[in-house]
Order: sequence, then C-alpha cells, then structure tokens
Amino acid sequence: MTPVTDTELTECDREPIHLLGGIQPHGALLAFTEPDLSLAVVSANTQEWLGVSPQALLGRPLADVLHPTSLALVSRALTQPAGGSLRIEAAGRVFVGLLHRRDGLAVLDLEPVVESSSEEEALTRVNQLLSPLTRAQGPRGLLQEVANAVRALSGFDRVMVYLFDADWHGEVVAESLDPAMDSFLGLHFPASDIPAQARALYVRSTLRLIADARAAPVPLVPAVLPGLGRPLDLSDSALRSVSPVHLEYLANMDVRASMSISLVRDGVLWGLVACHHRQPLKVPAATRRACDVLARLVSLQLASEERATMSEELARRASFQAQLVEQLSAEDTSLTTSLSRHADLLLGLTHATGAALLLGETPVLLGATPTLDEVGALATWLGAQSFDATLHTEKLGQLHPPARAYADVASGLLAVRLDAGAPRFIVWFRPEVARTIRWAGNPRKPVVEGPGVRRLHPRASFDAWQETVRGTSVPWSAEDQASAAALRGALVGVLLRHAAALSRSNAELDAFGGTVAHDLKEPLRGIQQYVSFLLEDVGDAVGSEGRKQLEEVRWLAGRTQGQMDALFEFSRVGRLSLAWGETDMQDLVDEVILTVSARLVENQVSVRLPRRFPRVECDRVRIQQVWANLLTNAAKYHQPGTPRWVEAGFIAPGEPLASARRHGDEYVFYVRDNGIGIPERFHEVIFEMFRRLHPAHSFGGGSGAGLSISRRLVLLHGGDLWVESAPGQGSTFYFTLGRGPG
Ligand code: ADP
Repeated sequence: MTPVTDTELTECDREPIHLLGGIQPHGALLAFTEPDLSLAVVSANTQEWLGVSPQALLGRPLADVLHPTSLALVSRALTQPAGGSLRIEAAGRVFVGLLHRRDGLAVLDLEPVVESSSEEEALTRVNQLLSPLTRAQGPRGLLQEVANAVRALSGFDRVMVYLFDADWHGEVVAESLDPAMDSFLGLHFPASDIPAQARALYVRSTLRLIADARAAPVPLVPAVLPGLGRPLDLSDSALRSVSPVHLEYLANMDVRASMSISLVRDGVLWGLVACHHRQPLKVPAATRRACDVLARLVSLQLASEERATMSEELARRASFQAQLVEQLSAEDTSLTTSLSRHADLLLGLTHATGAALLLGETPVLLGATPTLDEVGALATWLGAQSFDATLHTEKLGQLHPPARAYADVASGLLAVRLDAGAPRFIVWFRPEVARTIRWAGNPRKPVVEGPGVRRLHPRASFDAWQETVRGTSVPWSAEDQASAAALRGALVGVLLRHAAALSRSNAELDAFGGTVAHDLKEPLRGIQQYVSFLLEDVGDAVGSEGRKQLEEVRWLAGRTQGQMDALFEFSRVGRLSLAWGETDMQDLVDEVILTVSARLVENQVSVRLPRRFPRVECDRVRIQQVWANLLTNAAKYHQPGTPRWVEAGFIAPGEPLASARRHGDEYVFYVRDNGIGIPERFHEVIFEMFRRLHPAHSFGGGSGAGLSISRRLVLLHGGDLWVESAPGQGSTFYFTLGRGPG
C-alpha cells in the first residue's frame, strides 16, 4: 500500500458528499415544485415503495401519489412549517414523511413505518431516560448516561460519545457496548476522519442513519437538475446515501449500520454520538427523533455545565496563583528557591509537565525538562526573541531547531518574560502529543486504486501520520496563556520586594524599577480588567469561594500596580533635581492638611498645630509630599476606639529636643501621633521599600513605599528623616532640611 501525501488526504475534504445524487434504499424521495405540487425529482425505487415507476411519476401532481388527507398535511406543513415528521399514507402503506426545501423544490423523504412505536412512546422513553441524566456526576458522567440511553433506545451494538479537540481531533469519552464489540473508549481519532464538509452537514442535520452500509444507493431521476446542471442537493435529506469513503471506513470497522447524532452548541459542532451495529438496523424515525431530542437537551445542559467548569477552572488557577504569591511573599528566600518549593502549584497553573526558572545564573529545572545545557541554550535563544509578555508554541522544534532533539519533553513551550531589561524568564514545557495520545487504528489513510479513480481508503498505515504530529504538543489554551501572564504580573510585586530587600543599591533598584514598572503597567491593568469582567460575567457561577479568589486576584493586581507606581516614583526621585525656593512652611502645611483632610475626617483625627511655622528654603512640592505622607500615616495607624490626634510642629535651633538624634543648628520638623507605635527594631526597617509591618489589607492598605520615598526626598535636601516610637506610645517622625541649596 502506498503512503499518502497531504494533497491526497485533503481529497477527502473535497469529496462532494452532499451531491452524491442518491438515497439509501430503505425509503423513497419525492421532490416537487410549488405551488402546483408537481413532481420534479424522484428516487429510482418508487416502483418498489409506491407501485409507480419514476418515469410515470415525473411531471405528475403529488395528489396522484398521496392519500388526500396526507396531501392536506403536506400542504399545511409547507405553509406553516412546524418541524417534526408527518404521517403519510400512499399506495396503501404508512410512511413517516420528513419535509424540507432545497434547490427551489420541496423535498419529501418517505420511510415506511416498520414499528408500532409512536413518537409519543419514544419521547416518553426519553423522559424516563432523562432522570438518570439529571443525577449524573459531571460532564463525563452525563455523557456516559447519554451513551447508555441512546443504546437502550436504539438497540445499537456500540454507542460512543466522541468529543472534538480545538483542532478537530476527537476522543471517545464515553461508551456503551455489547460485550462482543471492541471498545474504543479513550481512543483518539485524527481530524481527517471527519472532513470539513461532513462537519458542516453535521451541524445542519443533526441526526444521520445509515441503515445498511452494504446496500447499493438508489439514484435520483433525473440524475441532474436541468436548471442547475448538477444533482439535487441532499444535504438535509434523512435518506441521503453514504459517501463511498465513509462506507469503506465502516466496512473496515466491521460495521453494517451506523447512526450519528451531532452535539451542537452555539452553532458549533463539539461532539458526536456515534452508533455502530454489526447487522443492518432500521432505527424507526420516532426513535431517531427521541435520540435527537436527547442529544439537544444534553448539549444544552453540558453548555451550562461547561461554563461552570470553565469558571471553576479559572477560579482554581486564580487560587493557585494567590497561594503561590502568598507563599513567595511570606518566605524570605530567593524567588527561585520559593518557586521550586512550590513546583506543583507552578506546573498546575498552566497544565505543564515541566518548567524551568531562568531567574539568575543557573537555570532551575522542575518536572520533565530538557537537560541543563539544553535549557541554557534555550534561554539564550529566548533572550534574543522579541515578545511582550508571553511567548508560546506547540512546535518548539520549528522555531528553535535544537529542540527537536528533546521533543519528547518539550515540544510545547510557554514562556513569560519577567524583566524587559534582562533575560529573566519562567518557562513551562509540554511533551510531544504522540506520546500522550492513544490513536484509534491507523489514522493515516492509505490510497487504493479504485476503478477509474484513485480514492482514499480509510486507515491502514500509521507511520506517515505520526510524522505530521511529530514535535507537536497539546496546544496552550487561552486560559493557560492568561494564567502565565497573570502570574508574571503578580510575581513582579514579590520580585520587587526581593530586589529591594536583597540590594540596597539604589542604582540597581532605579534601573530595575524604571523598566519593569513601565513595562508592567499595561498587563496589570489588563489583569484587573479581566478579573472585573470575569466577576461580572461568571461571578454567580463560581460561588462565594470562587468570587473570593477572584477578588483576591484583582486586589493583588491592584496592589502590584500601586507598587509599580511607587517604584517608578522612587526611581524618579533618584534622578530629580530640586527646585529650591524660600517657602512659608505655614502656608505649605495648611495646604497639605487641606489635601489630606478627607482622610483625617474619615479617621476622626484632630490636628494640632502648636505654633506658626517659620519660612525655610526647600523644594515646595517635594516637602509637601513628605508632610502628606507623614500626616496620612499618623491618621492611618491608630487603635480603634481611642480619640485620635496628630500634632505637626517644629523645634527651632537652640530649643531643647526630646529626640536623641539632633542635627546641629537647624529646624527640626515633626509629626507626632497617639497611634499604635512602632517597636524599636523596626525603626529603620520601615524606611525600606515595600516594607510594611501589618498585613496589606489592614489600616486601609498602602504600598509600603511612602516612607522610603519621603526619606529619599529629605536626603536630597541634605536633611534627615527618622522616627522615635514605642508600641502603644504613639510615634514621632522627625525631619530636617539641611542647609539649603548652598
Ligand atoms: P504605607 O503605604 O504602608 O503606609 P509607609 O512607607 O508610609 O507605607 O510606611 C511603612 C510602614 O511603617 C507602614 O506600613 C506601617 O507599618 C509603619 N508606619 C508608618 N507610619 C506609622 C505610624 N505613624 N504609626 C505606626 N506605624 C507606622
């Protein structure tokens, strides 16, 4: 057998299955013009079913064939289409009639009634079958119940439920079968098994029966519509005959009769219920309709369940992220160490099988990954790529050829860049898909020479097909990418704290802050908007726990955004040149009190200004910033219940000063409060960037940057800023302004 080329594979996509011009022999087809109801196309087997030859019927009125009451039914159905089937009497027989319009004709499919079961009976059975469905556990459980129910209704030997992946590969997720049949459960089928035009038909007509795969199709008379130059389009005909390729496919699986019911959601085919039988099986129209109803109900139910699952999944990831970030913030180790400690959370976040942390000198590997050398080379390559937040591929080998050597662990790559200025990444890996999937039979279709035509023959040789999936991983979903991007945002806050704690070097922090803060503003805003949108959209579906987690993510992103702004400000102060000028400190403080008055009123804080401030040399705007920060803090860090006050004043040169830290002959300004106070061991710590002594949620929040920025501003003036305080005794923050611009 010759292996096939891709051109030949797509041949299947071209096979005009809706224009095959024939029907299955277990019924007859009548197509007629309107409004005169005169027969224009009929199936070649009318003699058998209606006792009149096709030639004798063409051009004759429908009234010649149908019983008058049935004719009336058809006429009514044409003017008031209600869907459903018609009970048609003709030539002394009873048929189930299905009516639709196509190519300017009304088309009536007639199937003889072979069973006593009425549609009502079948629907009653559906009802009985539905009750276990409502008890089913989760989507898989539900689909299993569907397989059982369809098999019980129809009597097929094997009923399987088959779901499509994003790229139309499918997997059998539920199955009900006669013990003698082979099980297909868990197997995957390649996309080419269900070609594009068949999928389109599956959406349009949701149920399809092949009563006998070996029965010769019955041609239509005339074979070609005179006006159109082609056969009547049978897309919507229940009797439409079967494509030869599909028949061979069935023969290959030893299947004589088959039925498929589409699972359609929002106009998109997302699965099929596929039924197989070893013998011919004429499933009564009423039973088919019952199965169809069942499939529709299940599609609806699953759609809503899936939305809930999707929200749960998002909430799960949000919670992973929150946990991870919380752990990382709590631990006083390096980011790399903390992240590797929580490898399971990190991998779970994107459904990856391996990860590499490229945060410092040596990469750290978690789970299944390429070797250290290979990851090192990958990091160099990544560093040379330009991408904003994340980069992802299912075929790493195509972008980075050395990766072909380790396709088994890393065909899929998802990377986030943590730092615009340096090659720092978190990278996730996924293995080659061929290693994760059990394929059904031989997905590559070998070619056989048919009489006159070279036709595809379903399934025989595997190897060639595997080549097409070699080096490809399961694709990264939009959620995977969003999770990675969101983690990046959340990590930056942590990273900044680490950077600030590890290095006191302002220069380094400045550079880091400038680039990262700028780089991350947009994604952070994106995360906040995304979560707000989620909360609005699925807030109800995720339950209170899920909502809490989403709120947490929104809050985290908001806080990180605040830190970004602060860091940006901090690094800006480093580059600032002061605008010195003689300033009336009284005016200045009055103004500041006005600007923070909302906070003072809200916290019921009374302000004392013991005496008029002097005139001094300073940068007005910057010193306002310092006062604002000190006064806000004094208003914030209070015990509940006690009457609160804050005093802003100064000690003139020569006056006695309670503070041990005296700076020559200069004014010392102070802000004193009767708040919670600060233990001595934290008197310096609070001036570090992002250092807070309380959980971020308490005391009205804050980025933990205010004092660092204030001290930097005062130092720039040549002065100093310090605190004297003890727990429960209130705090006094002092600052001096140096000797002016000199
Ligand atoms: P924040 O934005 O958190 O207020 P700051 O840098 O201004 O950041 O302050 C750092 C930390 O110092 C605060 O989180 C708080 O724990 C402590 N702090 C600052 N001012 C006071 C005060 N007046 N009384 C008690 N604690 C204070």
